[in-house]
Amino acid sequence: MESVREAIKALVSGFATTFIHLFRKPITEQYPEYKRPLPDRARGRIILTRDPDGEERCVACCLCSAVCPVNCISMEGAERPDGRRYASWFRINFARCIYCGFCEEACPTSAIQLTTEFEFLKKDILSFVYEKEDLLVDHQGKDKEYNFYRYSGVLSSYGDKGEHIGERKPVDVKSNMP
Ligand code: SF4
Ligand code: SF4
Repeated sequence: MESVREAIKALVSGFATTFIHLFRKPITEQYPEYKRPLPDRARGRIILTRDPDGEERCVACCLCSAVCPVNCISMEGAERPDGRRYASWFRINFARCIYCGFCEEACPTSAIQLTTEFEFLKKDILSFVYEKEDLLVDHQGKDKEYNFYRYSGVLSSYGDKGEHIGERKPVDVKSNMP
């Protein structure tokens, strides 16, 4: 008897929920005519940004590539005559990317950033492979002010490596040779 009562109660509660929803205004978004604004932190297509001076932010440190769980980032580093590093080529395979955002978290220069763009469906899977020319943009993305080279990789007024008070001289790796 108890189980019959439970079954009827469940049935009535199910029908009641359906009945209530009959009188609710439907929520239908007419995509693609209407595109719901996404939060700034939504994770979509990846870009490579520039610093406020217009220089490429990427220093080809490979941290993004190392942290990527699906190994879809590859690049090769090069050095300019003034010693500044950059990526001579940089490639992302968006057919493998899972938009986890780890690369953005790992990047020390704020170069690689995920955007809110998610509409880039393609028929040919190979066209999901984006080269540096496709990724590099002419703006700073979410991080408007940050300029890595203003804080790191620049000469300080404290002298060279190992010359600051209490600082040890850099290790001469050749002295470790047998
Ligand atoms: S978002 Fe994730 S999967 Fe995509 S490139 Fe970055 S680290 Fe790799
Ligand atoms: S995008 Fe960032 S993490 Fe990746 S290589 Fe360039 S500087 Fe390093």
